[in-house]
Amino acid sequence: MAEDGGAVGLANGEAGSPSDTVQETSWPEDDEVFMTERLSPTVMATFRPGNVEELYELLEKLGSGHFGVVKRCRKRSSGTFYAAKFVKMRKCKGSRLGLDREQVEREVSILQQLEHPNILRLHDLFASKAEMVLILELIRGGELFDFIAEKETLTEAEAIEFLQQLLQGVAYMHGRHVAHFDLKPENIMLLEKDVPNPKIKIIDFGLAQKLEDGVTFKSLCGTPQYIAPEVINYEPLSSATDMWSIGVITYILLSGMSPFQGETDAETLSNVVAGNYEFEEKFFSETTDMAKDFIRQLLVKEPGSRMSAAESLVHPWIKPLSRKQATNRSRSSINMKNFRKFNARRKWKLSYNMVSACNRLCRLKLLCGQRKEDETLRGCESDQEDETTHPVTLLRRRRSSCS
Ligand code: AMP
Repeated sequence: MAEDGGAVGLANGEAGSPSDTVQETSWPEDDEVFMTERLSPTVMATFRPGNVEELYELLEKLGSGHFGVVKRCRKRSSGTFYAAKFVKMRKCKGSRLGLDREQVEREVSILQQLEHPNILRLHDLFASKAEMVLILELIRGGELFDFIAEKETLTEAEAIEFLQQLLQGVAYMHGRHVAHFDLKPENIMLLEKDVPNPKIKIIDFGLAQKLEDGVTFKSLCGTPQYIAPEVINYEPLSSATDMWSIGVITYILLSGMSPFQGETDAETLSNVVAGNYEFEEKFFSETTDMAKDFIRQLLVKEPGSRMSAAESLVHPWIKPLSRKQATNRSRSSINMKNFRKFNARRKWKLSYNMVSACNRLCRLKLLCGQRKEDETLRGCESDQEDETTHPVTLLRRRRSSCS
């Protein structure tokens, strides 16, 4: 079976030295706030001190990630429901238990800069030494791919309604010089699902970056199936890197096949670098030529020649120029049988990864717990494990798609 495709990270992003700019914040006037002492490279994040439970009633668990749980909560003053995401802070440098404060601050500062109907909103923030609590917009509709998989049929025109929303969110963030760098089905959710026109929400800005003019950003982060060749080649990344991922997502959405998927992550990565993919007639018999053209313009090796989000929004497949083009989209359908198979395999792999990640964390916790005094002296036991681990394994351990 092919390896999982969880998000990976080999190294922290490498950037030049962007100037510090202070971001305006929009926190409630009545509450005392304080600025964190350490600044993320570009923006200052603002956190509430104190206990989240004074202002929010914590309700049932919605899910759990690598670094803590997510619970439904209700704001005591207004009665509005949100999702409270608890993120554990790393206790020791190099430990794999928890996240660096700076990492969370970067995600937070990016979320604070984005205000768009198709992007998850950050409502409030609490911080203590041991954890941070992000109060997020509550997403009730689950993943877009799960929603689609439950349908009997779906025309291209219906699929485009979702893609268009995704592109609008991405065009907005790119317009603000933010790149997501981890676009994949798990990060495309629906605000509500039992409504006439479900609204897309892009989530998980854990790998997102603010792109600075004249500053080169390189990183080996992402999820093998969805990452662009420039990531693997450790070349400069840009907003075009996200557009490659949208090409892959569209390919899967229409056919239920993943264009570069190999038997192993290494094979997948080598397929991506080679740019080898084709539209196999068996899976694309119902697909319009316009849809294939749309994908071809995104799966372009040279990032500078790839279609941008703004250009994608006016591609004739998304915005038809003639009645004939519009009719073709409504007559063509996506390969539902194969799409359901793809989605079932994807969910299975995610569950498998989650169980493996939990097992690893339990082992690490035991190790760190046993050697607590050592930890403060020289970091966690896991440091030693990292040194002898093969890089590809190490990548996946740092951050998986279930985090
Ligand atoms: P995360 O740690 O962000 O990957 O979240 C773990 C799980 O919690 C996700 O897979 C979702 O099931 C759930 N979750 C995270 N954020 C939200 C949200 N804003 N609204 C509803 N559920 C969420």
